[in-house]
Amino acid sequence: MRPLGVFGGTFDPIHYGHLRTAFEMLQALSFAEVRFIPCGDPPHRGKTFADARQRYRMVEVAIRDQEGLVADDRELRRGGPSYTIDTLMSLREEFPGRPLGLIIGMDAFLGLHHWHRWQDILDVAHVIVAHRPGWKAPDFGPLGELLSDAGTHRVDDLHAATHGCVHIHAVTQLEISSTEIRELVAAGRDPRFLMPDAVRAEIMESGCYA
Ligand code: ATP
Repeated sequence: MRPLGVFGGTFDPIHYGHLRTAFEMLQALSFAEVRFIPCGDPPHRGKTFADARQRYRMVEVAIRDQEGLVADDRELRRGGPSYTIDTLMSLREEFPGRPLGLIIGMDAFLGLHHWHRWQDILDVAHVIVAHRPGWKAPDFGPLGELLSDAGTHRVDDLHAATHGCVHIHAVTQLEISSTEIRELVAAGRDPRFLMPDAVRAEIMESGCYA
């Protein structure tokens, strides 16, 4: 069974950095699909700018024409803080024998050891790390150890086991961040070409970053 990619984030808003990463993973790693799972209530950061339903809606319109990219609202429906381990466990229940690949950027991976029950994540899923400009893989500390114990360069390993591997995958570097987009819109500038037009239209209509 081909793996299911799991791409969590605040997506406040979703942009081409997220979309290109998910699409390249889908193709290069032969995933069955990549699920975008916006967090309802991110425990690690303050309030989001757009609310959970708006962020989910932006994800939906961003991917609607692309086969293999899917929007999943389980963290919005669950309520309470959105812990990745809970999301992975609910996916594991739904897809018992299928490999799961949690996709995170290198910046997020460098903070993984602060996540709630982070050591349980590899018991449920693989971790797929997307290179981002300006970030370097850790070679010491808990994450350096994790990479030397569980790291693999082989895509086949992600298909052969349902969980347990860490794979670093280089993707096209698009130095776009949601923070910069929000600042740009708040300053009255146009975010065109940083995201699909349908997402831009949602932002302009709702005024969520004005
Ligand atoms: P913010 O600027 O609000 O922190 P962000 O642009 O980093 O947001 P998030 O929603 O926090 O976006 O990120 C979700 C996931 O996408 C994280 O794992 C992050 O590392 C990854 N990611 C974000 N931007 C990019 C990008 N330009 N290229 C590749 N991965 C990215």
